[in-house]
Amino acid sequence: MGLMTTRADDKSNPQKASGEAQAEQRPASHPLRLTVLGSGSKGNCAVVSGPEGALLIDAGFSKKETLRRLELVGIDPANIKALIVTHEHSDHIKGLGVVGRGLKVPVYASRGTASTSGLRRQAPEAITFGNEDELTLAGISVKVFPTSHDAADPVGFRFSWAGADGSRDDIGYLTDSGVLTGAAEEALREVRVLAIEANHDPQMLATGPYPYVLKQRISSATGHLSNTQSAEGLTRLLSDRLESVVAMHLSETNNLHELPVQSLSAALERAGVAARATAAWQGLPVSVG
Ligand SMILES: [Zn+2]
Ligand SMILES: [Zn+2]
Repeated sequence: MGLMTTRADDKSNPQKASGEAQAEQRPASHPLRLTVLGSGSKGNCAVVSGPEGALLIDAGFSKKETLRRLELVGIDPANIKALIVTHEHSDHIKGLGVVGRGLKVPVYASRGTASTSGLRRQAPEAITFGNEDELTLAGISVKVFPTSHDAADPVGFRFSWAGADGSRDDIGYLTDSGVLTGAAEEALREVRVLAIEANHDPQMLATGPYPYVLKQRISSATGHLSNTQSAEGLTRLLSDRLESVVAMHLSETNNLHELPVQSLSAALERAGVAARATAAWQGLPVSVG
């Protein structure tokens, strides 16, 4: 009940329509799939699934809650091969130790992130990478890029799959960044699915209840992307390969669920790109595409 899905073609699959079998067949041209288990300041966790296994991005929920949400979207925990972290803020790593051990998967973090006490406590054996590296996990190529955030060594990812038959698929993932960095812009071009932060409505943040210092922090170049910045960023990342954009890390205080969807949809419309825009929820998983 209440599972949010953006698939418009569910009716073509009677098993799905009956509420069972989330493990739908992916079109051959879409070997990758992004599922956001939850996103926001109370916890972040997402899954990129590919033909050889899945990757968990961040672990901001308890083990029990992570398993509950995986079950809701029909993802077998045994299929998860690795856990990769964007940065050490607690809404991204507070379940890291228990989730990593519970799923028996290695944890990957950037060198700077891994050196922080918060991450060391959770995952002392984290495998480290550089913030411009390219890794291969579960057959998925993971291009790392630096983001702009008040953390030790924060990163975003581009996940790519290249099939033996010449097929390819790409998913971009960027949250917790005060600006769209040049490196992010380069890494996120021509993706099919784009997860991009749209944390706050600038007006709501300015007039909202947060203390001045926190407002400054959020809207700074090392804070969080606003709906406006997210839509502007999107216009720089448009291509005819883009099918789906999902707004991430929405503030429950300084945003409304429909606002970033409107901003992103308007940017797509202005450019004549026939992609769809949605927004992730804090409390519910969203199957993005
Ligand atoms: Zn965060
Ligand atoms: Zn953060």
